[in-house]
Amino acid sequence: MGKKLMVSACLLGKPCRYDGGSKSVAELCDMKGKAEIIPFCPECAGGLPIPRPPAEIQHGSGEDVWKGQARVVDKNGVDRTEAFCEGARKSLDLFRRHQPDWVIAKANSPSCGLGHIYDGRFSGSLRPGNGVTTALLLEAGARVMTENQFLEARDQILGKQN
Ligand code: SF4
Repeated sequence: MGKKLMVSACLLGKPCRYDGGSKSVAELCDMKGKAEIIPFCPECAGGLPIPRPPAEIQHGSGEDVWKGQARVVDKNGVDRTEAFCEGARKSLDLFRRHQPDWVIAKANSPSCGLGHIYDGRFSGSLRPGNGVTTALLLEAGARVMTENQFLEARDQILGKQN
C-alpha cells in the first residue's frame, strides 16, 4: 500500500523547464514499487512551449497573483499570468482527481516554488512566497514539500523500505 506522490515533472527527468532541461532527483526517478507517482508541469499544462523565456512573479507571490495584485512576466516583458493560472487550475484538477498524500514541488519556481520564489528581477535573488500553482494547491488543502524537504523526510514519507 504505497504512498501517492504528485511530483513536478522536471524533478522526474522530464525536459520541461524553460531552458529545455530538467532537474532530475534520482531518489524521485527511482520510485518503482515504493510510491505511485503522478507527474505535473503547470507551465506546460498552461500551454507554454519548451523552451520558453524564463518568467517570474513581479511585485508579489503566487497568492498575490490570485488576488489580482501581482503578475507573471517573462524576461521579454510579456505578461504570462493567464498561462500560469491556467496551468495551476489544471494541476488542481489533477490533485483533486488523484488525491495524493504529498505534492513534491520544485523549489523556487514561479509555478511550483514553496516558501521562496525568485523575486521578479531575474537576478537569481529569492523572496518569501509560493509559486502560482503551489499557492492554489495549498489553498485546496494539499500537503506540499520541496525536493530537498522530501529527501530529508523520505523514510518517514515512504515508510522504511527494508
Ligand atoms: S512548472 Fe514546475 S514542473 Fe514545470 S518545469 Fe517549472 S518547476 Fe518544473
